[in-house]
Amino acid sequence: AGAEVGPASGPAPEPAAGARHDEGWIGVEAALTLLSSPLGGMDAADLRRLGRALRDEERAAGIKVPAPSDVLLARALAEPERLTAHDPAYARGAQRLGQLLRKTREILQGGGTAEEALWTLWDGTSWPDRLERRARRGGAAGRNADRDLDAVCALFDTAARAEDRTGGRGALNFLEQLEAEDIAGDTLTGKATRTEAVRLMTAHRSKGLEWRLVVVAGVQEGLWPDLRRRGSLLEADRIGRDGLAEPLTPGALLAEERRLFYVAATRARERLVVTAVKAPAEDGDQPSRFLTELGVTPKDVTGRPRRPLAVPALVAELRATTVDPDASPALREAAARRLARLAALTDEDDRPLVPAAHPQRWWGLYEPTRSSVPLRDRERPVTLSGSALDQLANTCSLQWFLGREVKADAPSTAAQGFGNVVHVLADEVASGRTPADLAVLMERLDSVWDALAFDAPWKSRQEKDNARAALERFLRWHTTDRGGREAVATEHDFDVTLEAGEYAVRIRGSMDRVEADPQGRAYVVDFKTGKGAPTKDEVARHPQLAVYQLAVREGAVDEVFDGVRPEAGGAELVQLRQGAAQRDGGDAVPKVQAQQPPDGTWVGDLLATAAGRVLDERFAPATGKHCDHCSFRSACSARPEGRQTVE
Ligand code: SF4
Repeated sequence: AGAEVGPASGPAPEPAAGARHDEGWIGVEAALTLLSSPLGGMDAADLRRLGRALRDEERAAGIKVPAPSDVLLARALAEPERLTAHDPAYARGAQRLGQLLRKTREILQGGGTAEEALWTLWDGTSWPDRLERRARRGGAAGRNADRDLDAVCALFDTAARAEDRTGGRGALNFLEQLEAEDIAGDTLTGKATRTEAVRLMTAHRSKGLEWRLVVVAGVQEGLWPDLRRRGSLLEADRIGRDGLAEPLTPGALLAEERRLFYVAATRARERLVVTAVKAPAEDGDQPSRFLTELGVTPKDVTGRPRRPLAVPALVAELRATTVDPDASPALREAAARRLARLAALTDEDDRPLVPAAHPQRWWGLYEPTRSSVPLRDRERPVTLSGSALDQLANTCSLQWFLGREVKADAPSTAAQGFGNVVHVLADEVASGRTPADLAVLMERLDSVWDALAFDAPWKSRQEKDNARAALERFLRWHTTDRGGREAVATEHDFDVTLEAGEYAVRIRGSMDRVEADPQGRAYVVDFKTGKGAPTKDEVARHPQLAVYQLAVREGAVDEVFDGVRPEAGGAELVQLRQGAAQRDGGDAVPKVQAQQPPDGTWVGDLLATAAGRVLDERFAPATGKHCDHCSFRSACSARPEGRQTVE
């Protein structure tokens, strides 16, 4: 890495118009090179997606004109913790590399040698394993891997020798030595090229070659011409036969870029396609000035193509054609042949290039499977929690199965962290471990808040304000008279087995708070910190509250009522994130939703339905409002976004 080692930079301020953007300590060029190198392992699509996501994040944080995505990528690489909130599918590479670079930088700042820094970089990624695997497999890919390994060994040798020779004068000496060496950098030489394939290359590399059709893609202003100064830290490129040459002027740079564009555009024998995008926003991407210099009026293409120009869309269309009753037999056959060809394509490591083209991956053709080992032992009670009951019996049993049994749910979010923190503090106050004093609670909140991962600093601030409001509501609720009820237990764990029709159901859970009313009955309170609340009718049949009350009747709270079984006196949800209606005290107190002691058989029926679904393993998707927050939408056959799994 040829990046300069400089002082750490703080969060980037918004620059004034025309001012340079803070690029972080790595700099834009070095950052982009590193991200797309084998150490970063990101491709152009990943970089584009991440760049877009970073710009969206800036806008969400109130910055009207975010810095260009290249600058944001460089900043994120310099401060990889910025990337924790982004989709790992495209941000993981940058995040890992950022952490690795930081570690390497610390080694160098602490007086480490270039060789130590190189070892850290080498050991910190999966690149060595990848090279080793390829080298062992042999073939063209193996030869390339051997060559790369040789180059890496030579680099380590040079680093070790530089250390001996300079007596440990640091990494910059080593870089200087490398810059002075004349290293041939033709990494594409010797790579096997397929005959019937599209060749991707830079304009430089296309010199002297020709094709029938050439596409010069992404001819955007700012990229082409790229008028940034060329060269390296030591500007070795300026060393000529007659001494040090003057750096290129902007005019000369422009002329050089124009020549390069001319080279690219003249590689086509029959047809040349030049593409650029024009963003509607003023500060968005604009086509390069070179486009107009071609002398052809650019054709505006708006809207989307008939189908996305990507392999999955092609496979989808071919598959649809093979079974389209309106298509001619010849067309259907041709589509099937294309699919077979795509399915047979492999990369240099023999991995299929288009696995989705193979019928093996067409899940909809398979019959539903059954597990040879039953999910639950029919002879034993079915164990459920109050919230599971709602999913199993009322909303979607598939969501329950995937989330609770398969444990495929998304990792806990900051929203859950918010709930946990507020619950813990409420418990501390109710049990007397912390005084019922807002200042003390806020101090406790401050000490743990930064551990919650929010998408952006502004979100963290906003949620902290909400947490403060929730705690204030809790304190008001806690300190006012609630019809003479007294708290007798908090975070009360229980475990009871209930009869429900032909099933025995074991309910385990924890009651946020158990109170005794003046008649000596048990009243159960459940604190909620979510943004939604059930309707009045839904509360009357709220499964979790009803199960708590049933559990009270079965002895779940006997121990906190001196061993005497109390009657169930009701239960309530206390919505700490939501203020009450004006007539109930207004926003300063929480919205309280109470349920009477359940009568009739509806709770028993609910338990029996849920237990039956678990034992019979009936987990069919059932769509509804609950899908909005379901993590499995993209794999759910009942949702448009998940249909591709079976169609
Ligand atoms: S998306 Fe909806 S129907 Fe599908 S599993 Fe999730 S909750 Fe169930």
